[in-house]
Amino acid sequence: MIITKKRDMDAILDNIRNYRHVFLLGCSECATLCATGGAEQLEEMKTLLTAQGKEVTGMFVAKTGCQVLGTKVELRQHAEAINAADCILAMACGAGTQTAVELFEDKPVYTVNDTLFLGNMTRLQQFHERCSQCGECILDKTGGICPVTACPKGILVGPCGGCKDGKCEVSPDVPCAWVKIYERMKRIDQLQEFCNTILPPKDWSKNTKPRIRNAKETKESP
Ligand code: SF4
Ligand code: SF4
Repeated sequence: MIITKKRDMDAILDNIRNYRHVFLLGCSECATLCATGGAEQLEEMKTLLTAQGKEVTGMFVAKTGCQVLGTKVELRQHAEAINAADCILAMACGAGTQTAVELFEDKPVYTVNDTLFLGNMTRLQQFHERCSQCGECILDKTGGICPVTACPKGILVGPCGGCKDGKCEVSPDVPCAWVKIYERMKRIDQLQEFCNTILPPKDWSKNTKPRIRNAKETKESP
């Protein structure tokens, strides 16, 4: 899931300082799980904005905010409220925000959230980064633990000289990714094979942005 965090309210208000009428757009997927764009947060935002003299013309939690066509269809029933708004506040990730930008070319759209990373929720409201979307996955070679993400240096051969007692040199609270990989390989009885494997340099051209994938035609860019 995409992890988001609400921005400072002063920054949000500063962005919309010239506008009075606001439409709120949330997302029922990641932003709801992150408590940054669900029904509850939209209600809270409405209360905060009203207290600041703004008028919320309408609000809607899209099923999947980054699904442009689906959101477009869903928002048809809110056309009047959107037309009445001077701007849209998107309570979603950066991708969900850009759905609104794409759908409403003539209306200012501002995001309420900072988009942080792609990760997992391990406990309620506790998120851990798990994948840096490198475009060439090596989880099959590393026991399912991603060194590109879990190692601050993203090194493909580790651990480095900074590893101490199984912890990373950046912080004693951070486990060394490569120690975790080693332990995991041992546990699943693949240590010998792992020790004989040398990971080739990563092809970072797969990470060149912006990336496009057409799954229908299997065309990829780059
Ligand atoms: S190797 Fe790349 S694609 Fe696979 S989990 Fe790590 S960052 Fe993500
Ligand atoms: S100690 Fe481990 S996790 Fe930290 S930078 Fe070195 S190899 Fe990466």
